[in-house]
Amino acid sequence: MQELHDAPLAPLTTFRLGGPATRLLTATTDAEVIAAVREADDTGTPLLLIGGGSNLVIGDKGFAGTALVIATQGFELQGTRLELAAGEVWTDAVARTVEAGLAGIECLAGIPGSAGATPIQNVGAYGQEVSSTITEVVAYDRRTRETVTVPNADCAFSYRHSRFKADPERYVVLRVRFELEDASGLSGPIRYAETARALGVEPGDRVPLAAARETVLKLRSGKGMVLDPEDHDTWSAGSFFTNPILTDAEFAAFHARVQERLGDDVMPPAYPAGDSHTKTSAAWLIDRAGFTKGYGSGRARISTKHTLALTNRGGATTEDLLALAREVVAGVHEAFGITLVNEPMTVGVSL
Ligand SMILES: Cc1cc2nc3c(=O)[nH]c(=O)nc-3n(C[C@H](O)[C@H](O)[C@H](O)COP(=O)(O)OP(=O)(O)OC[C@H]3O[C@@H](n4cnc5c(N)ncnc54)[C@H](O)[C@@H]3O)c2cc1C
Repeated sequence: MQELHDAPLAPLTTFRLGGPATRLLTATTDAEVIAAVREADDTGTPLLLIGGGSNLVIGDKGFAGTALVIATQGFELQGTRLELAAGEVWTDAVARTVEAGLAGIECLAGIPGSAGATPIQNVGAYGQEVSSTITEVVAYDRRTRETVTVPNADCAFSYRHSRFKADPERYVVLRVRFELEDASGLSGPIRYAETARALGVEPGDRVPLAAARETVLKLRSGKGMVLDPEDHDTWSAGSFFTNPILTDAEFAAFHARVQERLGDDVMPPAYPAGDSHTKTSAAWLIDRAGFTKGYGSGRARISTKHTLALTNRGGATTEDLLALAREVVAGVHEAFGITLVNEPMTVGVSL
C-alpha cells in the first residue's frame, strides 16, 4: 500500500482545493482497504475516503488523519450482471457496458469519479439514476467490522441520497453490482426531454446505445460537465447545490414570491417529486437571483457554462470557494426564501 505523509490533497480533487493530509494511503485491493480502515478505527484516527475527488470540498487546513484513496480495480460482466470494484473509473465502466451492448447506465456517461461513490449520492443525470440498476452494494461495515451485502431495497436511495450518505462514518463501499438490460443494442427509454430533443426522438423512445452515450457526452461538454484539465469551468464538483424539494405549501409560498418579484406570468420550474412534493431548479433560482453564468470577480466564480457549477479559475482557496457559495445561498434566500443545500461533501469546513 502506498503511503505518504503530509501529502497535499488538492491534486486529488477536481476543484484542486484542500490542504494536506497527515497521512495518505492508496489501497489497490479490498483487503488493503479493509486493513487501512481497521487500523484507523483501532487507533481512533480520523479517516477520509477518497475516490475520484469529484464531490469533495476539502478545507485549506487539510485533514488531520488518514486519507485513504480507494484505487481497487475490477470490471466483471456476466450476461447482464455487472460487478465493479469501488476504484473503477465510472465513465470508463459506462463506455465498456455500451460497447458490450447493454443498457441501463449509458446516460450516466461523463460523470467523473469512481464506481464506489455512485451509490453514495445515487448519482443521476439525463433521466437515469444508479438506483434503477444497482442490485446490491458490498461494503465494509465499520460498526460491525464485517463485510456486508446491502440489497437495493435496503440502500434507502432517493434523489442525491442514500443510507451510505446518511451515515458516512459507517460504510466503505467495496463493490457495486448492477443488473443491466439486453435491448438488442438499444438504450433504455430516453426519459430526459433535452436528450430526446438532441436525438430527434420522443421521450420514451429507445435509440442505439452509442448514440445515447455520445449525445449525453456532447450535452454535458457544452455545460462544462465533462472533466477537461484545460477548461476551468470543469474545475468544479459539477452541481454545487441540489435541486430543492418543496412541500405543496412551501411551493405555493415560493410561487407567490416569484410572481411578486418577477411578474405574475413567471412560473418557476416544477417537477413532481412524490407525495405532495415538488422539485424546483437550483440553477434557475441562482440565475434569477442575479448570479448569472461567469458571476464573480475573484479566483472562485460561477462557471461560464452553467450557473449550478462553482469553479476554481486557478489559484483559488477553499475559503474563496466557500465565500462565493455563501453569497449565492444568501442571495437566493433573500430573493426567494429558499435555502440551497450543497451537494458535495465538505471536509473540515461547512457553508
Ligand atoms: C464536472 C462534474 C460533473 C458532475 N456531474 C454529476 C452528475 O451529472 N450527476 C451526479 O450525480 N454527480 C455529478 N458530479 C459529482 C460527482 O462526480 C459524483 O458524486 C461522483 O459519484 C463522486 O465520485 P468520486 O469517486 O469522485 O467521489 P469523491 O469525491 O472521492 O467522494 C465523495 C464522497 O463519497 C465518499 N466516498 C468515496 N468513495 C467511497 C467508497 N468507496 N465508500 C464509501 N464512501 C466513499 C467520500 O468520502 C466523500 O464523502 C459531477 C462532478 C463533476 C466534477
